[in-house]
Amino acid sequence: MYDKINNQIVDLNKLSKGYISVDLHCHTKYSDGVNTVEKMLQTAKDLGIGLAITDHNEVLGSRYAEKLIKTNEKYKDILLIPGIEVSTKEGDDFLFYFSKSEELLKFYTVEVKPYRLKRYMFTGTTINVEKLLDSAKNYDCLMIAAHPFVLKGFFSIQRENTFDLDEKIQGYEAINSGIPNFGNSRIQRYLSHKTNPIITAGSDAHSYKMLGTGVTCIPKNLNIKTAKDFIDAVRSKNNIICGKTVRLGRLTINHMFFYNFILNKIKKSKIFRKITN
Ligand SMILES: [Zn+2]
Repeated sequence: MYDKINNQIVDLNKLSKGYISVDLHCHTKYSDGVNTVEKMLQTAKDLGIGLAITDHNEVLGSRYAEKLIKTNEKYKDILLIPGIEVSTKEGDDFLFYFSKSEELLKFYTVEVKPYRLKRYMFTGTTINVEKLLDSAKNYDCLMIAAHPFVLKGFFSIQRENTFDLDEKIQGYEAINSGIPNFGNSRIQRYLSHKTNPIITAGSDAHSYKMLGTGVTCIPKNLNIKTAKDFIDAVRSKNNIICGKTVRLGRLTINHMFFYNFILNKIKKSKIFRKITN
């Protein structure tokens, strides 16, 4: 039997015998991912997992995926959890999951869209972290701190603000297979002092090749059929999580978007234009 946290390379064949697995964190072309929604859906189907498309400050990918699943026989029966990854001006990211896509749209329209920065693929916002965490109360959602100890990290927020972060956060992404190992070890050490916190795992895939390398799993006997069933089971802490930081080569593929970004910067630079003209 599995422990609640399995820091292992995901074996979907083995898991599928007892669990429904969902990759709760991935990106598409609608933010800074390299693949289309169709490619991500097809990959999830081939792997036999569900997914949450959590584009940065954007819902078009998740909404489009829902439409495809409803209308296209090819993608029928894929379990999709409506979701989004929201950036804050303090530099930390939060994942939000919804039972209904309409609720995700409402949240996005009111809490995210007005504050998006036209930075590369809208990956930045001017949202204040405390305001964002408070807003979660007004929606039927599950809010999860994404990779809490990378980027600026939890401690910076706690130092710079007067509020108690832990009081406002509902759950934690305790395995993100797209970040270096130390990030996962640090959050797991942090959580070891808490009694049974809400935890999730995801791949943070920016390429379809990473999909399924971090998964949140619910026992099959709980008969999960809908996004609501899945979120409720995670909220009730009936899940286990699996995943491990993938090899450097695959991380490189995952971050292809970063190289594209650098390439575009170079192409736009004065020196480059001088050379090529
Ligand atoms: Zn992400």
